[in-house]
Amino acid sequence: MTRKLNLALLVACNTFFSPLVMAQQSVAAGPIVVQGAMPVEAERFAQRLDNPRETQIGGWRFWHGTVDGYPVVVSETLKGISNAAAATAIAATQFHPVAIINQGTAGGHDPALKVYDIVLGKYSVSLGAFKTPKKAAGEGSDSRQWQPMDLLASKGSAGEDKNAHTIRQFPADAKLLALAEGVKGSYTQGKVVEGVIGSADVWNSELDRIDYFHANYHTSVEEMETASAAQIAAAFNIPFVGIRVLSNNMTNQGKYDPQTGLACQDYVYQVVKAYIAQNAPR
Ligand code: SAH
Repeated sequence: MTRKLNLALLVACNTFFSPLVMAQQSVAAGPIVVQGAMPVEAERFAQRLDNPRETQIGGWRFWHGTVDGYPVVVSETLKGISNAAAATAIAATQFHPVAIINQGTAGGHDPALKVYDIVLGKYSVSLGAFKTPKKAAGEGSDSRQWQPMDLLASKGSAGEDKNAHTIRQFPADAKLLALAEGVKGSYTQGKVVEGVIGSADVWNSELDRIDYFHANYHTSVEEMETASAAQIAAAFNIPFVGIRVLSNNMTNQGKYDPQTGLACQDYVYQVVKAYIAQNAPR
C-alpha cells in the first residue's frame, strides 16, 4: 500500500516537475572534486573553472563550476591530515563526487626526482602511524626502529595486534591513474612518474629518516594530505588519485619553490579534461 502510494507520488512529481527532472538528468553524475591544501595549490584551478561560485562550509572554501560543461568542485582542504580528512568527508557527503583528485606540492624522498617533477601516486601511505619499541628512561629515541601501525587493521588495539604492523597502502583508482598517465605528454616542466606518496603532519628534514622511508616504504615524496584524503575517499567508495609536484627535494639540494603548485594544477586540469572527454561525452 505504502509502496503504491510512493510510486503514484513519484509519477505525479515526475510529470509535474519534468523540466527540473530533465535538468537533473543532464548532470546525472556528481562532480569531480579537485583538492589543494594551500591557496597557491587551489586558486589557480578555481580560476580556470567556468562560472565559478565560491561557498564556505565550516572552515573550508569550495568553488563550484564546470570544465567543458561538466561539474567540477575545487576544494581548499587547508594543510595537514585532519583538515584533509574533514574536507574530504564534507565533499563526499555534500557533493557525491564521481572522483577525487588530491594534488599539490611535496618534498622529494627519491634523489632521482627534481623540483617540478610530478609523482602520480599509485598508492599513498601514512608516515605518522607507528609504534615505538620499549625503551627505558635514558635510552633515547630512534625513529628508524619504529614499526608501522595500520590503524585500519582491526577494531581492536592496533598497538597489540601483530597483524597491524605493516604499512597500510591506499591505492589509486586504476582508471584515474591511467588517465593521469595518459596526459604526461602535455607536461614540459619536468618528468612525470608513478610513485608512492607518504603523508603526515611532519616536515622531515633528516636525510637518514627520509632515506629510511624511501628504502622501506618506497616513498617518492612526502606531504601532509594525500593518504588522509585517500583513506576517507575509500571509506565512501569514491575513486581517488593523488598527484604531487616536487616543490623541494633535500636529497638533491632541490630548493623550495611554491610556483610548482601552479604547474601541478595545470597538469591536473589536463587530467580533469581527459576524464570528462572519456566519461561525459557530449
Ligand atoms: N613552506 C611552506 C609550508 C608549507 S607547509 C610555507 O612556508 O608556507 C606544508 C604544506 O606543503 C603541506 O600542505 C604539504 O602537503 C606540502 N609540502 C610540501 N613539501 C613538503 C615536505 N617536504 N614535507 C611535508 N610537507 C610538504
